Amino acid sequence: MKVQSEINIGLVGHVDHGKTTLTKALSGIWTDTHSEETKRGISIRLGYADITFRRCTNCPAPQCFTTALVCSHCGEETSILRKVSFVDSPGHETLMATMLSGAAIMDGAVLVIAANEPCPQPQTKEHLMALDVIGVKDVIVVQNKIDIVSKERAIESYNEIKEFVKGTCADEAPIIPVSAQQGANIDILIEVIQETIRTPRRSLRKSPRMFVARSFDINKPGSSPDNIQGGVIGGSLVQGKLKVGDELEIKPGIQIKNKGKLEWMSLHSEITGLVAAGESVDEIGPGGLIGVGTKLDPALTKADSLSGSVAGKPGTLPPIMHSFTMKTQLLDRVVGTKEERKVDPIKSSELLMINIGTSTSVGVVTSARKNEVEVNLKLPVCAEEGQRVALSRRVGARWRLIGYGIIK
Ligand code: GDP
Ligand code: MG
Repeated sequence: MKVQSEINIGLVGHVDHGKTTLTKALSGIWTDTHSEETKRGISIRLGYADITFRRCTNCPAPQCFTTALVCSHCGEETSILRKVSFVDSPGHETLMATMLSGAAIMDGAVLVIAANEPCPQPQTKEHLMALDVIGVKDVIVVQNKIDIVSKERAIESYNEIKEFVKGTCADEAPIIPVSAQQGANIDILIEVIQETIRTPRRSLRKSPRMFVARSFDINKPGSSPDNIQGGVIGGSLVQGKLKVGDELEIKPGIQIKNKGKLEWMSLHSEITGLVAAGESVDEIGPGGLIGVGTKLDPALTKADSLSGSVAGKPGTLPPIMHSFTMKTQLLDRVVGTKEERKVDPIKSSELLMINIGTSTSVGVVTSARKNEVEVNLKLPVCAEEGQRVALSRRVGARWRLIGYGIIK
């Protein structure tokens, strides 16, 4: 059995609707691990949990579906179905950039909607639009907090959800009533995930390409210089394989001064270790989130400084782009706010937030003709022709998703 999980499943939805509680109900892992997150009670950076779906061979469906080693109905040992990584996105409205960067590595998503509030809430809508814009197709809706609503309200909430998802990527999505807090219907949810979010076929023969979502310095403060461990990057491979000992290039890398001019230089290192689902492995492929140990100075990787980069075999990665032209497709209305405004056309010299893969940058529009827009980026990205770009604009004090572009 492979250690690495096969896919990433995003948990998205409005703040307080129960994403972190659901992750915990499935895994027993609390994903809000940052101290500031615990303080503020919201998920800031992408938290993730590796979960193994299991099945009891004695019991009928759906009771047979579990994540426990021993079946709670008959006491038999359960067998492994599939390993998956859950990516818990922040639902707070100021953190859309993080949600958008996470969506790039989601193979499917679970949209959590609390049944005790009218649907849609602003970020419920914003997150579903983001899944639509980024092209995440396999979506399941969890109707959560079913334990605290009446039967009438549960039905009303179901109808609100049905109406809300019409015409979106979640149009046909199954809607599963759940109580994440009480652990009710988690077995059915596992069964539906198994049926709905399949492991895609991926190319192992192409050269490796990893989207970096996090980066860390794993050394304890005050470690002696002899014991310092190299920088670690976390993310997902979208194609190819990585092995311990492989050479690694990370783009766009870091900014350096060359003859008085600022330039970007990609980083080169060697893979010293690979971690999947909490275990060290020698080789990994596309799929669930992984950690890659390198010989880089940990000062370069600390505090997510390399999140948004692309890593792979030296010489095989897309170019570093400081500007590009794209064909744009805009939404009709700005979502995520209480009153929804019409999306105006993109104008010359306005600022846009640009999300490509796991990277976030801000671009100044240098030319805008109909649906062809050119931007100059404040931070360069490693990207190529044909890639999808999520576009947000400042509306009031916040960045709001307004559509997407395809790089020309
Ligand atoms: P997130 O912001 O979407 O990650 O939401 P949390 O998982 O942090 O949950 C927000 C609050 O709702 C917490 O107080 C949870 O205990 C509560 N909650 C989550 N799921 C349920 C549920 O199924 N039933 C009830 N009654 N409360 C829930
Ligand atoms: Mg949370």
